[in-house]
Amino acid sequence: MDNSLNGKETTGTGEPATGFGPPGRPGPSASLLFADLPPLDGELRLGERAAAEAADDYGHLVHHRPLGVLCAGSASDIAAVLRLCADRGVRAAARGRGHSTYGQAQAEDGVVIDMGTLNGVRWERDGRVAVQGGACWSEVLRATLRHGRAPRVLTDYLELSVGGTLSAGGLGGASHRYGAQTDSVAELEVVTGTGHIEICSPTQRPGLFHAVLAGLGQCAVITRATLETVPVPPTVRRYVLRYSSPAALMRDQRRLVADGRFDYVEGQTQPDPEEEGGWRYLLEAVAMPLGGRPDDTALIGDLHDEREHAEIGDLPFPEFADRLAPSVAYLESTGEWRDPHPWLNLLLPDSAADDVVASVMAGLTPADIGPSGVVLLYPIRRELLRAPLLRAPEEPLLFLFALLKTATPGAEAPTADEALRHNRRLYELAREHGGFRYPVGSVPMEPEDWRAHFGDRWADLTAAKAEYDPASILAPGQRIFTG
Ligand SMILES: Cc1cc2nc3c(=O)[nH]c(=O)nc-3n(C[C@H](O)[C@H](O)[C@H](O)COP(=O)(O)OP(=O)(O)OC[C@H]3O[C@@H](n4cnc5c(N)ncnc54)[C@H](O)[C@@H]3O)c2cc1C
Repeated sequence: MDNSLNGKETTGTGEPATGFGPPGRPGPSASLLFADLPPLDGELRLGERAAAEAADDYGHLVHHRPLGVLCAGSASDIAAVLRLCADRGVRAAARGRGHSTYGQAQAEDGVVIDMGTLNGVRWERDGRVAVQGGACWSEVLRATLRHGRAPRVLTDYLELSVGGTLSAGGLGGASHRYGAQTDSVAELEVVTGTGHIEICSPTQRPGLFHAVLAGLGQCAVITRATLETVPVPPTVRRYVLRYSSPAALMRDQRRLVADGRFDYVEGQTQPDPEEEGGWRYLLEAVAMPLGGRPDDTALIGDLHDEREHAEIGDLPFPEFADRLAPSVAYLESTGEWRDPHPWLNLLLPDSAADDVVASVMAGLTPADIGPSGVVLLYPIRRELLRAPLLRAPEEPLLFLFALLKTATPGAEAPTADEALRHNRRLYELAREHGGFRYPVGSVPMEPEDWRAHFGDRWADLTAAKAEYDPASILAPGQRIFTG
């Protein structure tokens, strides 16, 4: 059935477009609410299916049903809907790809703005690319590769939206060289919570610019971003090196980051098949030479890995950038991609990273992260993280330590609730050691936790919220201002 009604409402199932509150509780009347909307370039969906999809995300842990879903056709559509929402006190959240894991892109009895239709990418001069907020990084990369270039920092998984990662930060293996994705933004077009379309940059309306980047969607919806890119070679050389302890892995990671010899540095743990319940640690480092062949000895000759296990090989850049695609296809085929994902992402200060990681890993079994879970561990240079709202330890180096858990029902893994309690404990442990949450995962948070998270930036965030979203309608699923 064709749901599309430009400027009109559609239920998608033929049902009346009213009463979309939770069962048993009369909801606000969607028809009444949206009756005053001007004609839209996109479409408004008020049906059961659209609401159910918008009440879910990659975590599958939290389900808040919206009144309606705006499939935005333009920034003006978003402005019109946000003006209406602000006027009526109805909450609204942008949704990129819904890959956050704890309801961050949901809006109970509100409006979810599906950004997927705003996915245009336009090559600009001077190595810059202008992309709409709903474009995902794979779409951006496809466009830049035509010019032999790539965004400076790519996330491990490319099917995340530009607006979604810029509102969190956007970290990856190139973050030790270029910071977060937020550090590659030259300019933004946004729609504020008052429904105004604004352009901002480090020099034009910098207050708004800094409130939006890593601002967790609190002040505005990102409708366009102009991003810096870098030249990339057709082929890269990749090294996967094995270690028996996190300390040994981190020691070598520090060395690589200090002299910057690699373009990409990450690390992860894997269950050790030779030791029941044990782990082994992998360094993944990639050289992207623009001319000549990398010198293996110069790159890894002084490292202290278990060299007999080293895997070294060349692969095409696009294959490297999209390296998760085969695993994702596999997990989709087994159904695990749709299992609950109570993820935990922490940023640890260098001085505490060895102790915190060692103590967490000593108490962690492979079952704790589930059959398709992953633990990431890699370094980032603090001075490169310039977005004021991207909270991170104030030491020259920090480590992303992420427990990407799958709570597969029926498996030996902890339940989703147990995993959430575990996340909360580890978050508190990290905080005691000067660590922060990288807030894309699933940690139950109270408003005072958010105040502690933002620390001396809290006053700036609340002032920006008062200025750009005075009705406090935006991104309620983050539970920063709504509790
Ligand atoms: C498989 C997988 C791999 C990942 N890998 C990485 C990684 O390598 N590095 C990394 O940093 N993160 C990674 N993440 C986390 C991811 O970056 C965040 O969860 C991100 O917010 C998801 O993007 P999304 O488009 O799905 O956003 P959504 O989940 O749709 O939204 C997340 C939040 O951003 C807000 N938002 C969305 N779009 C906009 C917009 N246009 N303007 C303003 N606010 C907006 C939403 O309202 C919500 O609050 C990964 C997640 C998954 C599931």
